Amino acid sequence: MSKSEIPYKINLSESELPKAWYNVRADMKTDHRPILHPGTLKPVTLEDLSPVFCTELAKQELNATDAYVEIPFEIREFYKMYRPSPLVRAYCLEKELKTPAKIYYKFEGGNTSGSHKLNSSIAQAYYAKAQGLKGVTTETGAGQWGTALSMACGYFGLDCRVYMVKVSYQQKPYRKGVMETYGATIIPSPSDTTEVGRKILAEHPDTTGSLGCAISEAVEYAVTHEGYRYVLGSVLNQVLMHQSIIGLEAKAAMEKYGEYPDIVIGCAGGGSNLGGLMAPFMEDRLKGRHAPYFIAVEPASCPSMTRGKFMYDFCDTGKVTPLAKMYTLGATYIPSPNHAGGLRYHGMSPILSQLYHDGYLDEARAVEQTKVFEAATLFARVEGTLPAPESSHAIRVAIDEALKCRETGEQKTILFGLSGTGYFDISAYMSYKEGTMTDHIPTDEELEEGFKGIPSLPGIQ
Ligand SMILES: *Cc1c(COP(=O)(O)O)cnc(C)c1O
Repeated sequence: MSKSEIPYKINLSESELPKAWYNVRADMKTDHRPILHPGTLKPVTLEDLSPVFCTELAKQELNATDAYVEIPFEIREFYKMYRPSPLVRAYCLEKELKTPAKIYYKFEGGNTSGSHKLNSSIAQAYYAKAQGLKGVTTETGAGQWGTALSMACGYFGLDCRVYMVKVSYQQKPYRKGVMETYGATIIPSPSDTTEVGRKILAEHPDTTGSLGCAISEAVEYAVTHEGYRYVLGSVLNQVLMHQSIIGLEAKAAMEKYGEYPDIVIGCAGGGSNLGGLMAPFMEDRLKGRHAPYFIAVEPASCPSMTRGKFMYDFCDTGKVTPLAKMYTLGATYIPSPNHAGGLRYHGMSPILSQLYHDGYLDEARAVEQTKVFEAATLFARVEGTLPAPESSHAIRVAIDEALKCRETGEQKTILFGLSGTGYFDISAYMSYKEGTMTDHIPTDEELEEGFKGIPSLPGIQ
C-alpha cells in the first residue's frame, strides 16, 4: 500500500471497538511474584483485599488465568462517548525529521480528564456501583487521576473523596474546580479527617503533604467508613488490564491498513499506559509470533527501571500498602524538586517489571527533562497537539528512533503512546521557554539513600 493511502487518522467504527480487555498476566511465561500482606508477609488473598478494594476489582487483581475479560456493557457505553481515541499517522513530524520511518501515535488526551486514566476510572467506578457501594476514596498529586475518577463517579452517581497533596491543592485551584464540578469532595492532605492525618498535622503543622500521606489517608477513610472502598490509578494489574483498550484499538486500527509496528514506545510512571498500549503486541511476543521491539521511557531524575533494584518494596511512602516485587528506587525516594515532567513514582507495575526482568519488554531508557521538552515543543509545532510532559518522554524516544532511521535508511514503523494533553502543565512549558528548567540526574549516593529504605525481608527478597 502506498504512503498516501494511509489517512492521517485511522478510526475504528463503534462496532469494531474491543469487547474484552486483555490480561497479559495470563500469558506470561513467569508470573510476577505475589503481592505480600505488609503485616503477615504472606501472599494477599481475596479476603485481605476485599475490605480495601471492590470485590470484583480484587478478583481482577489476583486473576492470573483469564486472558480475555469481557468489558461490561455499561462501561462499553461510556467508552463510546470518547473512544476510539485517535490513532494518528505523524506525517508532519516525519517530514520535519526527514525520516523514512513511519510514525504513529495513539492519543489519549482528548477527553476532559486529559489522559488515559479515564479508561480505568470508569471501570473502577462501575464495579463500585455494581457492588452497591456509596463511594470511593483516592489520592491525587498533580490531579489527572483525581479528575478522571471524579468524572467516572459523577457519571455513576458515586460519592468521590479525593485526598489531594496540600501543595498541589494550593497551586492547582483549577484542577480542584474541575473535580468539584463533577461532584467530588477534595480534601487537602494531611487533613483532620483521618487519624493518620491528625497525627502528621500534630507533628508537622506546616507540612505541604506528600503522596504517601494522601494514600494513607484515603485508605484509612475507606476502611473505616461503611460502603467505601479505595481505588488507585496506576501500577495495579487491574489498571493495566483496563488500559489494554489502548493497545487493542491501536492494533485493530493498524491492521486495517496492513500495518504492524516494528517499535512500540511508551512513557512509564507506574506503567499503565505503556502496559496498555503494548499488551496485545506483547501477546504476539509471548506466543512466539512476530512482535515489535518494546521501549519504556522514564525520567533520568526518577529512573526506577534503568537504575532501580528488582526487589520487594512498599507501594507507598507511608508503608501502609502491600509489598510488590518490582523495580524500585525505594519508597522514600523523592525526585529532585526541579523535576516538572511527571512520572515521579518510585516503583513500577509488577507485570511490567517482570516482563522487563525476563527480557520481553526489551529496553528501558531514561531521558533528561530539557530534552523531553525540546521534543514536546517540536511536536506541538508540527503536529498541532500540545503533549503532556509525561507523554513527551515517549515523543523524545520516538524522535530519536526516527532519526536513527534517517541515518540507516531503514523504513521502520514506530508506534508511541501520547498519553495526555499538556493543558495543565503550562508552567513547566514556560519554565522550559524561559530557560529556567534544569536537569537533575541523581548520583549513585543519592540513589543509595533510597535503597536503604527497601525492607530486607530475610528468606523472601
Ligand atoms: C498518570 C500519567 C502517566 C503515568 O502513568 P502510567 O501509569 O505510567 O501510565 C503518563 N501520562 C499521563 C498523561 C498521565 O496522566
